[in-house]
Amino acid sequence: MIYLDHNATTYCEPEVVKEMLPYFTDRFYNPSSVYTPSQEAKESVESAREKVAKILDCLPSEIIFTSGGSESINMAIIGIAHALKEKGNHIITSKIEHHAVLHTCRALEKSGFEVSYINVDKYGVIDMEQLKKAITSKTILISVMYANNEIGTIQPVEDIAKTAKEHGVLFHTDAVQVVGKIPVSVKKIGADLLSLSGHKFYGPKGIGVLYIKKGIKIKPLIYGGGQEKNLRAGTENVPAIVGLGKACEIAEKSMERDSIMEKELRDMLEKKLLEKIPEIIINGHPEKRLYNTSNICIKYVEGEGMLLNLDFEGICASSGSACTSGSLEPSHVLLAIGISAIDSHGSLRLSFGRKNTKEDVEKVVEVFPGIVDKLRQMSPFWNKK
Ligand code: PLP
Repeated sequence: MIYLDHNATTYCEPEVVKEMLPYFTDRFYNPSSVYTPSQEAKESVESAREKVAKILDCLPSEIIFTSGGSESINMAIIGIAHALKEKGNHIITSKIEHHAVLHTCRALEKSGFEVSYINVDKYGVIDMEQLKKAITSKTILISVMYANNEIGTIQPVEDIAKTAKEHGVLFHTDAVQVVGKIPVSVKKIGADLLSLSGHKFYGPKGIGVLYIKKGIKIKPLIYGGGQEKNLRAGTENVPAIVGLGKACEIAEKSMERDSIMEKELRDMLEKKLLEKIPEIIINGHPEKRLYNTSNICIKYVEGEGMLLNLDFEGICASSGSACTSGSLEPSHVLLAIGISAIDSHGSLRLSFGRKNTKEDVEKVVEVFPGIVDKLRQMSPFWNKK
């Protein structure tokens, strides 16, 4: 099996699993209890918090553990909206955000908030002029993703943070696809809030983090016990927190090597497919793009048909994002970069990871043109050409 869908999720590193296992059995204790084994569990949570803080270049006290990327994003946007509603009711985001951001914004619109959705260019880079013009005296938050999950384009987050600061507006970035892939410093970016998720970089599923810069007031989403500084109630998911800490530690060491290797494989794949197949387009920014992500539009082909045929060959890929995969809606990201609805149906996302090899690329390059050819023969549009 060749797995090329690492932006959907990654496997959990065996070292991460090993670190987690005792917390299901021998070390199962509730970190909030007073006896010694519980205090040891609490220490493990705090040690993981330090590891996450290190990879983000922030203070451990600025880290809040959540159940994943979606919860962190909901907490950031809804939490700030409710905390600052006396100041204003306007939020700015981009048209190519993950649904965790877009649907949260839509929900807030239903309760009286106003949201501006900023355009992107043909590479998926945000229109900074439009963003600046959208800021009003009522704007309380700008939320723009660090890198896009479908096309990999990396946004100018430092410029966005600077603009936000100049106008006294808070800046949140969805860094779910970035943390663990490229070095992230919240200080360097100037982010006020940042979301990440464990299962995108070889950690467990169901664990995420919201970084909240010291001094920023936010309303909780979940009420109950006093865990996570009264901001996120519920008994801590100690095994997952410990696993996330380990995943951060591993990522710090392997990020550089992974990026060189995966970029080489991705570039090799794109070059060979462009050589062998006519009428395909590589989406996303040519340079400012996640090194592991390739989004390809194959004209006159149904992406779903490609996926099924690749699956038959033992190759796992994705059409658009995992969340919209299987739906017939064209990808909002591809539409926003100017791809037509018809062409967007023929798009495929291949995302590399630590275990991929040159042999994987060779196998894909071997079977891909045949599948495209077969599907194009069935297309009335291709045959009319
Ligand atoms: N944001 C982006 C950019 C993502 O790619 C994802 C997952 O696909 C999420 C948010 C949601 O993260 P989670 O699956 O941890 O809820």
